[in-house]
Amino acid sequence: MGKVLVIGAGGVGTVVVNTMARLPEVFTEIMLASRTKSKCDAIAERIGNNRVKTAQVDADKVPELAELIRSYKPDIVVNVALPYQDLHIMDACLGTGVAYLDTANYEPPEEAKYAYSWQWAYKDRYQEAGLTAILGCGFDPGVTSIFTAYAARHHFREINYLDIVDCNAGDHGKAFATNFNPEINIREVTQKGKYWENGNWVMTEPHEIHKPLTYPGIGPKESYLIYHEELESLVKNFPSIKRARFWMTFGQEYLTHLRVIQNIGMARIDPVIYNGVEIVPIKFLKEVLPNPGELGENYKGWTSIGCRIKGISKAGKERTYYIWNNCNHEDAYRETGTQAVSFTTGVPAAIGAMMYIKELWKKPGVWNVEQFDPDPFMAELNRLGLPWNEKFDIDLEL
Ligand code: NDP
Repeated sequence: MGKVLVIGAGGVGTVVVNTMARLPEVFTEIMLASRTKSKCDAIAERIGNNRVKTAQVDADKVPELAELIRSYKPDIVVNVALPYQDLHIMDACLGTGVAYLDTANYEPPEEAKYAYSWQWAYKDRYQEAGLTAILGCGFDPGVTSIFTAYAARHHFREINYLDIVDCNAGDHGKAFATNFNPEINIREVTQKGKYWENGNWVMTEPHEIHKPLTYPGIGPKESYLIYHEELESLVKNFPSIKRARFWMTFGQEYLTHLRVIQNIGMARIDPVIYNGVEIVPIKFLKEVLPNPGELGENYKGWTSIGCRIKGISKAGKERTYYIWNNCNHEDAYRETGTQAVSFTTGVPAAIGAMMYIKELWKKPGVWNVEQFDPDPFMAELNRLGLPWNEKFDIDLEL
């Protein structure tokens, strides 16, 4: 039915191609390309049957990537490299007439600041070229945005309060490790907090606001208000939202390590000269930290990510609603050789590509996932290992 080029052979890329390989009726041909080809080859070999072709590409070199796209002729490019590559890959797709999908919004390497504005600026060009770009199709952003769209369609006349709650109650047995790319992860969680209230962004110090929240099947976990990218598009696409916040759980051990890393300058993103060589401390740190794609083997426990929503029901009454998915690290490892964070990101990216190939999510322009029909996507989540649950009229704790 469709041909796909996946870029990025990390933990998330592994899950994306594993999921696609199990769906030959949708993904007739799959190519995995990344900067280090040996990583692509190892993933392809594990899947077997010559199901996945591989290639070397530096996605920051637009002509090189465009050449690969022209020779392979995919229907869609799935970008699960790093946020730094987003604009280059969008340029290459635009130049070659191919659809685009990613899981994280653009972030300039020299500044720890992510925002959709850079990618939304491509809207007219994608529209004129008749091409679809699907932004933020992982779990958060991704499924959390689709949960919100689903709630708005089926359960609410208007959504007024949205709290996205992300708990990782897993234990990987390491003193400190990040669950996805360490550089991107540390840049994200050390920045100032930010949430939406009554038409304005409210800034907080990093991890200043926190409280215990109870996660289904897990129990209470200290949860910290941080800024997360889907808030930016959700408050735009659902203007009835009065307050939107994002909460993430962190253990004390993790926070202590993070504080030390920052205090000793290892989270710096500007280059320093060491022995006459320019190095960026956070990039060096990434090299010595555990590889998130390889945490799976000893990872136990669950993740629980969802949306807690308050608003007015279709019948005009005040209503609360909680929709979430719980994912088990050990099950994720058995299925794909990675942990639940890669799994919960990679499966939605594969489903998003499927939505495009089946022409269910195909419209020229640049779109966030909540701007598409959530229903077929939600059905695939249940089928492909990320089942969701919902509860109505409960205490949201928020
Ligand atoms: P990894 O660091 O494990 O993998 C990234 C891969 O991209 C590596 O294989 C890397 O190659 C490759 N890459 C980096 N730069 C280039 C380049 N210039 N050209 C080609 N390939 C390149 O990251 P993860 O798999 O953990 O994360 C992947 C993406 O998923 C990130 O953007 C992350 O932000 C996003 N994410 C989204 C989530 C969501 O829920 N929406 C949650 C978790 C992650 P090499 O091996 O050579 O370094």
